[in-house]
Formats: sequence, C-alpha cells, structure tokens
Amino acid sequence: MNQTFPTLFISHGAPTLAIDSSPAHEFLSGYGESLGMPSAIVVLSAHFEAQTATVTSGEHPETIHDFGGFPDELYHIVYPSPGEPDLAAGIARLLDAEGVTVRKDDRRGFDHGAWVPLLLMYPAADVPVIQVSVDTSLGTRYHYRLGELLAPLREQGVLIVGSGSATHNLGSYFRGAAGDASPPWVTEFNEWLAERLTAGDIDALLDYRVRAPHARENHPTEEHYVPLLCALGATSGRFSATRVHHSYEHGVLSMDAYRFDKA
Ligand code: ZN
Repeated sequence: MNQTFPTLFISHGAPTLAIDSSPAHEFLSGYGESLGMPSAIVVLSAHFEAQTATVTSGEHPETIHDFGGFPDELYHIVYPSPGEPDLAAGIARLLDAEGVTVRKDDRRGFDHGAWVPLLLMYPAADVPVIQVSVDTSLGTRYHYRLGELLAPLREQGVLIVGSGSATHNLGSYFRGAAGDASPPWVTEFNEWLAERLTAGDIDALLDYRVRAPHARENHPTEEHYVPLLCALGATSGRFSATRVHHSYEHGVLSMDAYRFDKA
C-alpha cells in the first residue's frame, strides 16, 4: 500500500537558495528524507503560468534557468529527475473530467520554483516530477479547486507541492540587503497567514486580498500566493497545518514552509 503524504507549501525565495547556506537551505536539505520517498512529485510553481492548464508530460524534462543576474554556478545546475508521461496523462484526465481545459506539454522543463527546492529535498533526483501550471487571472478559488482535483493522486503515494513565497515583494527584495530586519508590513502579513492556516480558515485564505493586512504589498502579483491554495485544496479541505520552517531572507522574503496533513 502506498504511503499517503502530506501536501506542502514551500517558499522558494531567490534561486541562490540552491547554493547558499541559510536556515531555509538547511531545512529543505533534510526535509525530503524525513518525509520519505513518494511515488512521484507534482509541483504547482509560481513560475509556471499558462492560460490553459498545462501538465508537463515529457520523459526527461530539462532544467530551466529562468532567472537573470545570479551567480554563474546556478546556470550549470541540472536537476535530472524524470517525468512520468502516464501519470501526466492521468492528471490531464482528472482535470478534463471536471471541465478544466487542459493540455499536455512534453517539451516543458522544470522551472526554478520546482527544481531549487527539490534539489535540496531529493538530491538524488530519482523521483519522477510533474508540473501543473497556475493562472492568476482565474483567481484564488480556481487554484483551491485545482488542488482538490489533484487530491486523488495522494492515494497513489504522490507528493503534492505548492512552490511560491509566503511574502513576495520583489521590488523591495532588490532594494534590500541580506541582513535587513523584516518590516512590520511583512511580518504582520506573514503572521496573519500562519494564524489563518493554523485555524483552517479557508474562507479567509481565499479572500486574503481584502482580509489580510498588507496583502497587496506582499503580493503585488499573486503567482507566488496561489500555489499555497493548490496545496490546501489537495487536502480536500480537511487539514491540519504545521509551519515546518520559519525564517526571513533580505528582510522582505518570508521563507516559511507548511505541511498540511489530513485532519
Ligand atoms: Zn519565485
């Protein structure tokens, strides 16, 4: 019988998470081993946006270096996990059966929202990985529903990961410095998120844009927030949330990570 995994939300921060020592780097480096080996990993990443829901279906997806201005070393990292075309086809069927228009893309590789955390969590790169796209134009409820549609995969031992960022104001990030203290507009949002997740308050999390303090400042665009809702949806709405990592980088980037177990 397959192990049932929690679903995860991981803040992936800057791509340098892959190579620079930091509390988040240290956390992720041991976390895969503590979870165990899933049969496959499905990642919903902030860096894979598509207007039609898209599932990666190639056998050997390439590693995409979808960032600029970072150390040369990062551009040489390859994360060679295989894809799993049969599972991709199964995911496409799950979505299609519920009226979500979906396409498979056998040429799309892994973006850094997927491969940076997985490189640390599963460095052997021997677990098949599939990505499913997000689309912020469809709003928060779509992403929660998308997670719900993927929930049956968990019975097959699949680990579902939302990869975004608990706070994500890039303008402030690029203006900041590594040792900067976190301003209140970041910590207040971050702690609101932790409280609402712990309370299981899905309505507030879906309506975070109007209910959370400083929501727009922390998520000027929503692509780093919606993967959280996918991870929540994949629990089918009955979850207990645990903040498994808490730190900030560059003051404004929360690196918080959560696991959601079925309540
Ligand atoms: Zn990102």
